[in-house]
Amino acid sequence: MNAFPDAARVELANAQLRTNLRNATDTIRAKRARVVAELPDWQELREAGRAIKADVLIRLEEYLLQFESAAQAAGAHVHWARDAAEANAIVVDVARRHGASEVVKMKSLTTDEIRLNDALADAGITALETDFAELILQLDGDWPSHILVPAIHRNRTEIRDLFVRTIAEGRALSDDPRELAEVARVYLREKFLAAQIGVSGANFGVAETGTICIVESEGNGRMCTTLPPVLVSVIGIEKLVPTFADLEVFLQLLPRSSTGERMNPYTSLWTGVTNGDGPQELHIVLLDNGRTRVLQDEIGRQALACIRCSACLNVCPVYTRTGGHAYGSVYPGPIGAILTPQLRGIENAASLPFASSLCGACYEVCPVKIDIPSVLLHLRAEAVRVKAGRSERVAMRAAAWIFGSRRRFELAQRLGRIAQRPLVRAGALRAWTRTRDLKRVPRESFRARRRRERG
Ligand code: SF4
Repeated sequence: MNAFPDAARVELANAQLRTNLRNATDTIRAKRARVVAELPDWQELREAGRAIKADVLIRLEEYLLQFESAAQAAGAHVHWARDAAEANAIVVDVARRHGASEVVKMKSLTTDEIRLNDALADAGITALETDFAELILQLDGDWPSHILVPAIHRNRTEIRDLFVRTIAEGRALSDDPRELAEVARVYLREKFLAAQIGVSGANFGVAETGTICIVESEGNGRMCTTLPPVLVSVIGIEKLVPTFADLEVFLQLLPRSSTGERMNPYTSLWTGVTNGDGPQELHIVLLDNGRTRVLQDEIGRQALACIRCSACLNVCPVYTRTGGHAYGSVYPGPIGAILTPQLRGIENAASLPFASSLCGACYEVCPVKIDIPSVLLHLRAEAVRVKAGRSERVAMRAAAWIFGSRRRFELAQRLGRIAQRPLVRAGALRAWTRTRDLKRVPRESFRARRRRERG
């Protein structure tokens, strides 16, 4: 992945992208503010959400085992995946056993994180995205730039042109959103009816009952999870809540923070399998993929409390200018800046914690009170430590080589004497000497003087 400043420079040159982003994020932000203001106990709800998630992270092992046995008792097959490769292999295996050449998929960041579509394609299986925005991106070989509005960087004229080229098969279309949605609806309806396997993510998993919960706006998720006879749900291990009653808190926090709605148009819950109703085979893949490592970091672990509402993206002065692609991850914006470096390792995403003005707006809107600015500072310190560690290792190795031989040491002294002034003047040591004095190398070393005086 490119460092954030380089990727951001490219995105900032795209004026159309900035206009699309501004229009979309301004609208969502205003809607969110309106519906949040309706609730007099919003701050108490946020605190409840934070407390529930904190408890889950501390007792995660216990809740996971509880979830596993409840889901199994209800007829689900529960699989554990340490990483993306294991999770993908499980889904591919289920699809192969059922001879499926195509699966229908609902929007899921977790499956994007593990690049499930690529793994299925390698196995000769097509994963069809059924969320409207995800379908647009898939048809154009593009990738999401927002957690909730994946095609936020596209406008309706671009979408009309794309549909004419692809699923509308050359038919003339206007750029009326209703007409465009109808084209996608007709195309997807046939796919839903024919699909043998549906693939979903999960917004929440209830430990007490083994229930999975998803919320969505289009109804495609409900089609994916009810029509195909086999359903595979991939769920990050941090997505659990302890009890069914805890959903009450999150089902108020999430829609208001994400789409600015009082409740989601579709809230689907399923527990195992039910004879004659819905999928008759349910596989649940519990995915780690770096999460237990994140859990070990006392400050950084709060990133795992995220409920993926995207409120922090819409208020971030950096995200709203650059868009999501600059973050080089399925998790963009402030949450991406703290989650990606932890999941991938700070050395693989060291520039992301610096992609913030630290204005604190993300913390103010976060429905589960994740202190994003503190985690950013913590990760910045970590990034500096890792980088300094690398140059320090190189410097120490060079020093060891020089000190390992009298001839090399004396040569280095002579070179240092000659090069010190030009190096400082040319600026090569300016960063070092800005806050420190550079000791001058003496005109004559002790050894040279001794040799001169004693022969
Ligand atoms: S960090 Fe908070 S505001 Fe951002 S997506 Fe996650 S829950 Fe929402």
